[in-house]
Amino acid sequence: MALLKEKVTSIHHWTDKTFSFKTTRNISFRFKNGEFAMIGLEIDGKPLLRAYSVVSPNHEDHLEFLSIKVPNGPLTSKLQHIKLGDEIIVNSKPTGTLVCDYLMPGRNLFLFSTGTGLAPFMSIVRDPETYEKFEKVILTHTVRTSNELAYIDLLNNLNQDEIYSEITKNNFIYFNTVTREKWEREGRITDWILKKELWKVVGTDDFNPELDRVMICGSESMTFDLKKIFEDLGSKEGSTKVQGGFVIEKAFAEK
Ligand SMILES: Cc1cc2nc3c(=O)[nH]c(=O)nc-3n(C[C@H](O)[C@H](O)[C@H](O)COP(=O)(O)OP(=O)(O)OC[C@H]3O[C@@H](n4cnc5c(N)ncnc54)[C@H](O)[C@@H]3O)c2cc1C
Repeated sequence: MALLKEKVTSIHHWTDKTFSFKTTRNISFRFKNGEFAMIGLEIDGKPLLRAYSVVSPNHEDHLEFLSIKVPNGPLTSKLQHIKLGDEIIVNSKPTGTLVCDYLMPGRNLFLFSTGTGLAPFMSIVRDPETYEKFEKVILTHTVRTSNELAYIDLLNNLNQDEIYSEITKNNFIYFNTVTREKWEREGRITDWILKKELWKVVGTDDFNPELDRVMICGSESMTFDLKKIFEDLGSKEGSTKVQGGFVIEKAFAEK
């Protein structure tokens, strides 16, 4: 395992709870879109690392990450104060289960996220291979308040983007919901699925376990609830070893 040192090249604070940043990328750092790496800071002469999904697609020459700010969190209480030019440590061995190869071939790909669970899907929705494998790619993001909808403009405009419109060919669908304030679409994504409203609003046929594939990334309770919903609908979980109908990653470990 090698620890690479990368320089911070841009920082964006979305809210007082989340921020994102870009760094340089060592050419030896290779990853599959959807994977995470251990990244962090050197604190008191020792590396303090945490798992982070890579936001930027693997064809980009930089790396981007979306981060929570945990009050008193060992890493993020410091990481949230990084400045341009600061050094970030990146473990050279990324891994993870949210990779298209771990799903059986299919028709529509549904990507369900809450909070920073959006991060791995940011690379997947900008990967040309995703659109070669699936007809439609539907990304959902649920947060408490609308200002936490990170990358909302990029996602709303992906089908019109100069570069990405060629890749998505209008087959990308972005759907967000907000749980704690007034918004065009309110409530938990589980309710949208159970009421069969989601398929109507995004304009797909009802979920069909034979044809449709799913990735899930969010809190422990969200991943647990969605796993049960898709198992009840007849889908089977996949892994890095066996392809399935859905794959899951918890966006963080709950203590
Ligand atoms: C596979 C995997 C991928 C991850 N990818 C990301 C990512 O892309 N972006 C990111 O910000 N974090 C991600 N995390 C969480 C991350 O590893 C750290 O937990 C987080 O950066 C906080 O670190 P910390 O040392 O400040 O606090 P920690 O001691 O690690 O966490 C303290 C507590 O904060 C809460 N918490 C931690 N992370 C989050 C979060 N992301 N959202 C809401 N609550 C949280 C949990 O209750 C946790 O017990 C991922 C975790 C896993 C397991």
